[in-house]
Amino acid sequence: MYLLITCEHGGNHIPSRWKSHFADAEQALNSHRGYDPGALELAKDIAKQFKAPLIASTTSRLLVELNRSLYHPKLFSAWTRMLSPQEKETILREFYLPYRTQVEKVISTNLPVLHLSIHSFTPELEGEIRQTEIGLLYDPGRRREKQFATAWKQALRKRVSSSIRVRANYPYLGKADGFTTFLRTKWKDFAYIGIELEINQKIVHSSGQEWQEFKQIILQSLHDLIVLN
Ligand SMILES: [Zn+2]
Repeated sequence: MYLLITCEHGGNHIPSRWKSHFADAEQALNSHRGYDPGALELAKDIAKQFKAPLIASTTSRLLVELNRSLYHPKLFSAWTRMLSPQEKETILREFYLPYRTQVEKVISTNLPVLHLSIHSFTPELEGEIRQTEIGLLYDPGRRREKQFATAWKQALRKRVSSSIRVRANYPYLGKADGFTTFLRTKWKDFAYIGIELEINQKIVHSSGQEWQEFKQIILQSLHDLIVLN
């Protein structure tokens, strides 16, 4: 299968034209609300290791959320929600649509595709401590997707120490609104497998060595699946 790596929340950049709306947003931009720390670094490593294309955005999700559908109430953030319909249209045309269209184009011209969308999540959200270090998000109703996610979970569990927990469809459900969920509506199970990898940011923010080792485990587990099978 053709491997495609994407990273929707790779950076916290706000284009100069829109900066005036983000005067009070520095803290949010530098937190998990602005981007997914570590996700782009990991996505680059995976793409390099498997010589796969990487499509990534370094524009902050607080401008427009690439991992939400056009109708989703959180498509725009607290800093962009109040913009005029014309301004929102411009943001969609310049940032959202080009990104999503590019991914769709690569998929449609390389079927069947294994799409890994790389994310990270905050260790604690609204007082809730997340009980995992690695989450694999998929749609249990898609047979091949389930197969791949289950095999990946097993490959990871073989390699990680007990302090690293691997869970399926946690901290979010793979079926919830997201880019992979949208892409599943376009291609059937045999043509498209879309998995979101979610890693806990506490590892990204841990010692450099722990983070390097963690990335290696992810790469090795994927190697077990993709190269050896
Ligand atoms: Zn994300």
